[in-house]
Amino acid sequence: GDLLKRRKIAVLGARSVGKSSLVVQFIENHFVEGYYPTIENTFSKSIKYKGVEYDCDIIDTAGQDEYSILNAKHAIGIHGFVLVYSVTSRNSFNMIQTVYDKIVNFCGLPSIPCVIVGAKTDLQNRNRQVQPDEGENLAKENHAAWVETSAKNNVNVGKVFELCLAEIEKRTPANQTE
Ligand code: GDP
Repeated sequence: GDLLKRRKIAVLGARSVGKSSLVVQFIENHFVEGYYPTIENTFSKSIKYKGVEYDCDIIDTAGQDEYSILNAKHAIGIHGFVLVYSVTSRNSFNMIQTVYDKIVNFCGLPSIPCVIVGAKTDLQNRNRQVQPDEGENLAKENHAAWVETSAKNNVNVGKVFELCLAEIEKRTPANQTE
């Protein structure tokens, strides 16, 4: 039946913002400091959202810069995007709009199902460079969801993927299973 739905989610952002840590915390429930190699990995997890079980492929893309970030395989067949910056890196935040625009242009759509994530909030006391309202405003301008996370302290990690499913479902006609 159509209760099992497959969704592909790509996680993109500058190098070292914490993409792998976020995904591994979500999938495996642990955090290992400085452990993850910058290779691309796809993880599968079933996520229940509003009573529906979604069979999700989460693609943890390898670290990129704004020139190489959008490989065609990261835009074709992807249902939702998680764009990650670190709250401790202004540069990584500045890259988000560039990446967003590239995806939108590539897909030929006015907007895409997207969650903008400000990562590493546990480091905010000494090292914050991006304020919460800046992240929130960027998300509003792009019709995206927004959340701040700490993979280290497991704060809002599950929320990222719930928000992503919500953004996907907003734009998906009821009962569509692909
Ligand atoms: P990626 O290149 O975007 O996949 O980033 P990684 O997940 O490999 O993380 C880069 C570095 O930031 C590693 O040393 C991580 O341990 C660290 N890191 C990732 N997430 C957090 C976090 O939430 N808090 C802190 N304090 N460090 C983090």
